Amino acid sequence: MKKRGLNTICTHAGEIKDTQFGGAVSPIFMASSYPYMDVEVMRYPRYFNTPNQEALGNKIAALEHAEAGMPFASGMAAISTTLLAFLQKGDHVVFQNEIYGGAFNFVVEEFDKFGIDYTFTKGVSIADFECEIKPNTKVIYIETPSNPLLTITDIKAVADLAKKHNLVSMIDNTFASPVNQTPIDFGIDIVLHSATKYLGGHSDICAGAVVSKEAHVNTIFQKGKNLGGSISDFMCYLLERSIKTLGLRVAKHNENALAIAQYLESHKAVQKVYYPGLVSHPNHHLAKSQMKGFGGMLSFELMDGLDAHKFQKALKMIKPSLSLAGVESTILLPAETSHALMSKKARKEQGISDTLLRFSTGIEEVEDIIEDLELAFKKTNNK
Ligand SMILES: *Cc1c(COP(=O)(O)O)cnc(C)c1O
Repeated sequence: MKKRGLNTICTHAGEIKDTQFGGAVSPIFMASSYPYMDVEVMRYPRYFNTPNQEALGNKIAALEHAEAGMPFASGMAAISTTLLAFLQKGDHVVFQNEIYGGAFNFVVEEFDKFGIDYTFTKGVSIADFECEIKPNTKVIYIETPSNPLLTITDIKAVADLAKKHNLVSMIDNTFASPVNQTPIDFGIDIVLHSATKYLGGHSDICAGAVVSKEAHVNTIFQKGKNLGGSISDFMCYLLERSIKTLGLRVAKHNENALAIAQYLESHKAVQKVYYPGLVSHPNHHLAKSQMKGFGGMLSFELMDGLDAHKFQKALKMIKPSLSLAGVESTILLPAETSHALMSKKARKEQGISDTLLRFSTGIEEVEDIIEDLELAFKKTNNK
């Protein structure tokens, strides 16, 4: 399927033929018990190898140009299992300074118990990564575009650095989705996803995924069957269904987000906009060189004195909500949600102010989104 076009892969890769009735979509196989005698594979849900788990893993692998893939019950199940699969007691890992809040919490709350050492970089230049590498470093972990500041990290440079030092490179590719960015093509070893976001895309699925070469996926499987973060066949089916329209959805998210970023950038109530598609973004050229589209996520800072709560409450269509990447536009304050567990000082060091708003652009008509924002700006300005 790799040579087929994006939307063909989205529609067909991995599908299970319905040999019984010839139906057009993959059947759901709910069995948790399969034969063990005279079989090549012993199937079991926690072995990540039921027919629907395999179909979904193959679909995501095809999208990411990877050899193999494995779906999980959540993005954090994929991330925690993968990190623990490659790190032993005494090992060290270099993390990009800005990573997803849940992944950050997992590291700072759990790694000490496993005797795993870690460092967060000071910035995202290659020198920032290289200077943190120690003799016991085993893994280098990045996230680009990052949450919530949409910082862009040079994927190929990190992959090359990892190769030079014999490290396993990992990326959280959730924000870009495989439609906009395929890090395996730049030499990254392992790609992680919260499928709760763009892959699912309708704000009704919690899932995760990892893709890589076969040998690495086997290593992750060995850890996965012990930790047990497997996904149900029904969720696999829903996700397979969602991914059929991933290419179409992300194209619309990209188009809308760019228009909204430009609208916000020229708005007098807005101080600053963070979006890699804007020419004013400090790493716009790097983003252009490694992304096919700039994604649906952006953040912005209101002018001093404007109340971010009042602004959100004045929105009629756009929902102030947790999570992101649904077909509907949503908005939130990272300082009160995804980054609430971080100290104010740590947030400030990352550049996340208490009034920074993160916007997840939906696929509604862009004029309607802008109208909703415009009315809310007007209401926030009055008294
Ligand atoms: C949501 C998210 C995760 C975690 O995924 P869950 O499905 O909530 O476990 C990881 N990384 C990024 C970038 C995310 O947005």
